[in-house]
Amino acid sequence: MSGRRVLLVTGGSRGIGAAVCLAAASEGWRVAVNYSSNRLAAENVVAQIAAAGGSAVAVQGDVGSEDGIKAIFAAVDAAFGRLDGLVNNAGIVGPPQRIDEVSPERLERMFRVNVTGTIRCAAEAVLRMSTRHGGKGGAIVNLSSAAAVLGAPGQYVDYAAAKGAIDSFTIGLAREVASEGVRVNAVRPGIIDTDIHASGGLPDRARDMAPSIPMQRSGTAGEVADAILYLLSDKATYVTGAILNVSGGR
Ligand code: NAP
Repeated sequence: MSGRRVLLVTGGSRGIGAAVCLAAASEGWRVAVNYSSNRLAAENVVAQIAAAGGSAVAVQGDVGSEDGIKAIFAAVDAAFGRLDGLVNNAGIVGPPQRIDEVSPERLERMFRVNVTGTIRCAAEAVLRMSTRHGGKGGAIVNLSSAAAVLGAPGQYVDYAAAKGAIDSFTIGLAREVASEGVRVNAVRPGIIDTDIHASGGLPDRARDMAPSIPMQRSGTAGEVADAILYLLSDKATYVTGAILNVSGGR
């Protein structure tokens, strides 16, 4: 039991993150299911994993705060005493706004959660996984977005810019720690059917956008999770610095 690899998924309680937690547990990972506010959703994921014979804990913490990040990693250390993988999945959008409508407060939070949160969680993971720090190596997967290359004009260019930063960070960190046993990759989902669209005030976005997607449909959280699980796995031992589109051709 104690030899099984440990994965931390930020925002693991719903959507893509929850699908990653369930898929990872079915492949034998022990999983830390991070959430920010919806404890019941996280506990539901943990219960599903336990019912299937896996091992998971719910870990509260806001990746948009340094105290939250410290609490998340302290909880992972206490529960498992090791870390082998990190999926930087927690992310937020905002309601559709042109940049001349975006408030400084929204912009600051957009970058604090999506960019600073990802970078700081990666730093804490490197401290635990890098051979430079006495670790045994590991893998990090960051959640970018097709918006990073499409720009999301008229919708949320601030979110798109934040995801562009994730692409650059993925490339840089991958090269920085490549010789220390840590692989770093990203996925760029297109339109995936999760609650994130409702949180941005567009509950029907996945359905409405389908005709504009080359595959003529939105993707599922499970389809993104499959790509992430590949990048975490020993099937990807020579893959680092890659950014994989999971977007139905979008
Ligand atoms: P979602 O359904 O809205 O779920 C978001 C998850 O993140 C929830 O578990 C939520 O937990 C958690 N979370 C939010 N803010 C957090 C914070 N500050 N600290 C810790 N956890 C936090 O989102 P999703 O659609 O699965 O998206 C997951 C990732 O994929 C995001 O990075 C998103 O930008 C990216 N992505 C999504 C799409 C898409 O179409 N869905 C496309 C491209 C990229 P609580 O409920 O507790 O807050």
